[in-house]
Amino acid sequence: MGRTLCGAHSRGYGLSVISIVELINNVSLDKVGREMYRLVSELYPICRSITGEGVRQTLEIIKKRIPLVTHEVPTGTKVFDWTVPKEWNIKDAYIKNPKGEKIVDLKKSSLHVVSYSLPIHRVMRLNELREHVFTMADRPDWIPYRTAYFKEAWGFCMSHKQMMALEEGEYEVLIDSSLEEGHLTYGELVIGGRTSDEVLISTHVCHPSLCNDNLSGIALATGLAHYLATLTLRYSYRFLFLPSTIGSITWLSQNERTLPRIQHGLVLACVGDSGKTTYKRSRRGNAEIDKAVVHVLRHSGAEFDVIDFVPYGYDERQFCSPGFNLPVGCLMRTPHGCYPEYHTSADGLNFVQPAALADSFSKCLSALSVLERNAAYVNLNPKCEPQLGRRGIFRSYSERSNGADNEMALLWVLNLSDGNHSLLDIAERSGLKFDVIRNAADLLTEHGLLKQ
Ligand SMILES: [Zn+2]
Repeated sequence: MGRTLCGAHSRGYGLSVISIVELINNVSLDKVGREMYRLVSELYPICRSITGEGVRQTLEIIKKRIPLVTHEVPTGTKVFDWTVPKEWNIKDAYIKNPKGEKIVDLKKSSLHVVSYSLPIHRVMRLNELREHVFTMADRPDWIPYRTAYFKEAWGFCMSHKQMMALEEGEYEVLIDSSLEEGHLTYGELVIGGRTSDEVLISTHVCHPSLCNDNLSGIALATGLAHYLATLTLRYSYRFLFLPSTIGSITWLSQNERTLPRIQHGLVLACVGDSGKTTYKRSRRGNAEIDKAVVHVLRHSGAEFDVIDFVPYGYDERQFCSPGFNLPVGCLMRTPHGCYPEYHTSADGLNFVQPAALADSFSKCLSALSVLERNAAYVNLNPKCEPQLGRRGIFRSYSERSNGADNEMALLWVLNLSDGNHSLLDIAERSGLKFDVIRNAADLLTEHGLLKQ
């Protein structure tokens, strides 16, 4: 997509900002948090899986906010070592007790049916039914989330309390599902920048009614795309809304020619809970995206965690597989598996908060702002320090920064601008904030002492 579409698209937002810095300074995080939470609520009831109408409906709702393009990849398509599976759809599912009362109903929670369950309509004894029921004995009120991808099986999920209360007798069991030749569906949006170098933002869209994992990631990616489309950008931004694992494998196998353009990337998952932000480094470990995110977190004033790459988690596993080794990290709050609500009905609308979503948005935007403005400079007066006082640089620097910033920034930038250190490197080495370093570099450039 070219700038024309982005420009046209941006007019609807009522924002007059043009740079990412202006956006950061002007955007109302309260409003952004509420917008993202509204999207989470809208998507919550849909029964999603790795294929099928649930993903299509989800993408259609996202399209009301950003001009996503939907791609359909046919069942049976070879994607590296995998094959695009049959498409799974479900119309209805219930269990009726011996009195004929519906005790489990898909319409009440999309978690009640094991994802990819084969169709069934039979009457059976409680003993047989129980073999197909999943519960959590240690959390007796919660419904677990289970899948049967790439297996031929069927099953229900319910609270342990409910299962323990079931009486002996005959139960009518219905799963009105289909598993047929069809497609794998994913969404993609490219926002054009000044260069064709890209930042990849990817999130998974295959989970049913679970808010943190991963309606939060969907809402954050949508929010970022919505606002970035209003800006003048250096990088082009590619947003992917994929079913996890098979979706990223499919995209990678069909877009190998695009990969050299990807300079930085983030997978977004579990970004709406009240825990501290966690960043998982790319496989490279010290890519620019790793340094940028860690820098932003370190200067955020809030607690955070940074973890090294492990070949387990979300789609960074595929982006960082050794054949690609893309510089893609993963931004989370509390990581998957580290909160009891994970993959249960307790990961509901109360578990994610607008303020947490807004905070994740703000941190992402700050990290992208570092990437957008990072560069390496050369000191044009490298033999001894230039006489800054004579040029009035100290005075104009302290006026510009309201006296808050350290004159040390000027000295650091002059000293380390040898073409080999980026401004982010200098910020990290000096312990100063990227913005302070960037301001110093701008001023020194204006005075002819520095060149990009
Ligand atoms: Zn999950």
